[in-house]
Amino acid sequence: MIIVMNSSATRQDIDNLESKLSSLGFKTHPIYGSVKTVIGAIGDKRLINTQTLLTMPGVEKIVPIMKPFKLVGRELKQIDTIVEVGDVKIGGDELVVMGGPCAVENRETFFEIASKVSEAGAKILRGGAYKPRTSPYSFQGLEEEGLKIMAEAREQTGLKIITEVIDTRDVELVSSYTDIIQIGARNMHNFRLLQESGQSGKPVFLKRGISATIEEWLMAAEYIMDAGNKNIILCERGIRTYETSTRNTLDISAIPVVKELSHLPIIVDPSHASGNWKYVSALSKGAIAAGADGLIIEVHTNPESAMSDGQQSLIPRNFSELINELKPVAGAVGRSI
Ligand code: PEP
Ligand code: MN
Repeated sequence: MIIVMNSSATRQDIDNLESKLSSLGFKTHPIYGSVKTVIGAIGDKRLINTQTLLTMPGVEKIVPIMKPFKLVGRELKQIDTIVEVGDVKIGGDELVVMGGPCAVENRETFFEIASKVSEAGAKILRGGAYKPRTSPYSFQGLEEEGLKIMAEAREQTGLKIITEVIDTRDVELVSSYTDIIQIGARNMHNFRLLQESGQSGKPVFLKRGISATIEEWLMAAEYIMDAGNKNIILCERGIRTYETSTRNTLDISAIPVVKELSHLPIIVDPSHASGNWKYVSALSKGAIAAGADGLIIEVHTNPESAMSDGQQSLIPRNFSELINELKPVAGAVGRSI
């Protein structure tokens, strides 16, 4: 439920109400507005007598939250969340482009790609050190060595870095290197991993599960926020459908739907959505026009020899051209790059 405080409520009134709620086993999430404060209270409603709460000083009204996702939904928080990663803001007027290879393969290749991604104007460098591969015989990633290479590339380029964590046992290690933790599509339903990442203190980039509904995806985000992490970025990366011409089907409708239901920023991954570098440009433009807050794109200097996802990776020149072509599209929808 949402407890709306009146405009003359004092800090003491808010504190008293929060202690009352927490004594009843509720978790409270105050949102301080310029005029009024609202407090999201999550817990077992049967334990509470709303009439008693209504008589407490400073309380104006109590509104139930109808949707199953409480913290990530717009009912509790109408204002868009902007996730700040150093000086990079995700979810504001300026769009954010993330680029880099699927996997960190070796120091030399990664540094080369990193400098090209930076020159093209991207703000965040992607790379996988732990790869969730369909086959156990495929390259699984350089693990901590890969994280070290990424951290060095951050020093060299000034880009922020994002990398995936696939196991709860690695969350602490991965968070000690990365700026943003990625939860991949295959792990969107791994609730322990969501909770652990929620406690990491790092922003979490949550990819939509391969066959997840938007509600299931938002519930996964709810796990992260319930664990104490407000800095969540959603990523639409295509869903599995009957269509086989592309690796997945980009669910472009997910962008306005998520924008309506949630205050969290949404980034689109046209690389995993299409599985083919030739379609990345068109999907990127469509995503920005539909209201996405940015893109995450796979880039490789030599896609033919990439250890994973080469067929969907752009060469740096095409990546750079794409960013230029996106500028007027962003401008047309009141955004910038
Ligand atoms: C990736 O980003 O390289 C990746 C494995 O993505 P997804 O989880 O969307 O398949
Ligand atoms: Mn990939």
